[in-house]
Amino acid sequence: MTALPSSDHEALTARLRDFIDSQVIPREQLLQAHDTHAVQQAVQALQREALALGLGRPRGNRSEGGLGLTWEQCCAYLETAGRSFLGPAVLHCAPPIQPDMFALEALASPTQRQRYLEPLKHGQLRSCFAMTEPAPGAGSDPRMLNTTARRLDSGDWEINGHKWFITGAAYAQFAIVVARTDAGVSWFLVDSRTPGFEVTRIIPTMEPFDIGGHGEIVLHNCRVPEDALLGEEGKGLDHAQLRLEGARLFHCMRYIGLASRAMDIAQEYASQRESFGARLADHQMVQAMIADAHIQLYAARLMTRDVARRLDAGESIRHHSSMAKVFVSETVCSVADSAVQICGAMGISEDTPVSMIFRMLRPFRIYDGASEVHRSAIARRALHQRLSA
Ligand SMILES: Cc1cc2nc3c(=O)[nH]c(=O)nc-3n(C[C@H](O)[C@H](O)[C@H](O)COP(=O)(O)OP(=O)(O)OC[C@H]3O[C@@H](n4cnc5c(N)ncnc54)[C@H](O)[C@@H]3O)c2cc1C
Repeated sequence: MTALPSSDHEALTARLRDFIDSQVIPREQLLQAHDTHAVQQAVQALQREALALGLGRPRGNRSEGGLGLTWEQCCAYLETAGRSFLGPAVLHCAPPIQPDMFALEALASPTQRQRYLEPLKHGQLRSCFAMTEPAPGAGSDPRMLNTTARRLDSGDWEINGHKWFITGAAYAQFAIVVARTDAGVSWFLVDSRTPGFEVTRIIPTMEPFDIGGHGEIVLHNCRVPEDALLGEEGKGLDHAQLRLEGARLFHCMRYIGLASRAMDIAQEYASQRESFGARLADHQMVQAMIADAHIQLYAARLMTRDVARRLDAGESIRHHSSMAKVFVSETVCSVADSAVQICGAMGISEDTPVSMIFRMLRPFRIYDGASEVHRSAIARRALHQRLSA
């Protein structure tokens, strides 16, 4: 994509900041955060406003009404959107929809594009991505996949399996289901009204505000047509890598925004509140927490931007995105933890968004590859390829 001139990009980001602060943050309604329906309604109303203001779909083609930002330009834009729990969904670039769009762009046949990708781009359909399974199925190790897709004589596929923690399952009209065939791990497009496909529950979790919650899905003799296969049979693990790389980067960008907001609130509190005859902001140990947060977020931004630049340049980002994902996910948690600490009891209440931010950020150390799994992959590559640190 051709980069937007930098003055246009700055003006666009400033307009977004204004929209997020004046329209989106006031409608967050912390106490309704566990109500997926209320959150969905708030997002839909705001999506229409964002579209009218020309603020949606940062990676969408300009010819199709998107903003056409480069990955690097997305850094500041997504960070700004990410200051609100609702921001990325309002801009139609939250997971799972955004990474599902990346995957469909790369893999869908002309018929699949027409049926799934186009309506997904325009908010007429919602999707979810169903890979993870309860033990003993696939979690960190995708090779443990237990869901199967069997080809019938008619050419149709019959899928059986059990998935969980599937974000957006409650409102998805279709799922990308990962299943094992004779050729290996493969992807299937499954309409959620297909007999044998059932969202059995939404799993209560520590972090609400994900549109459509995290669902558990049972597939029982779920029959889909021959052309439900997405991409190449047996290449599902490669497809997953492709889907995840951009998604991880988007998470880094938006969560830097949330962590930065938590620290802004903490700084404000520290500037007002007094203890032992001084403002909290005058105590050196509080200053150290604030300084460390700034140092950490500065480094997190630089790493994220570097990976974005590499992606824009068409380089492989496997190694660098792993390092950035580990660093950023741990950094934003640490910054949010300090924000909670500085705010004292108020920091664990829902009188401010700080505790909710802390809870939203914590799972990022687990999904899109747990820190330990990335560390082991980074070290393996470093040792096998004799990479210099
Ligand atoms: C908020 C949220 C949203 C999610 N959304 C989706 C979704 O939309 N679709 C989907 O398919 N899945 C989704 N997931 C699931 C996610 O992909 C898995 O949680 C992740 O792959 C880890 O699998 P697991 O939970 O089974 O952990 P396990 O595989 O049981 O691992 C547990 C822990 O063991 C440790 N560990 C594992 N392997 C190693 C290793 N090799 N070395 C050292 N330590 C290790 C890590 O600390 C890890 O956290 C989501 C999860 C969360 C929390």
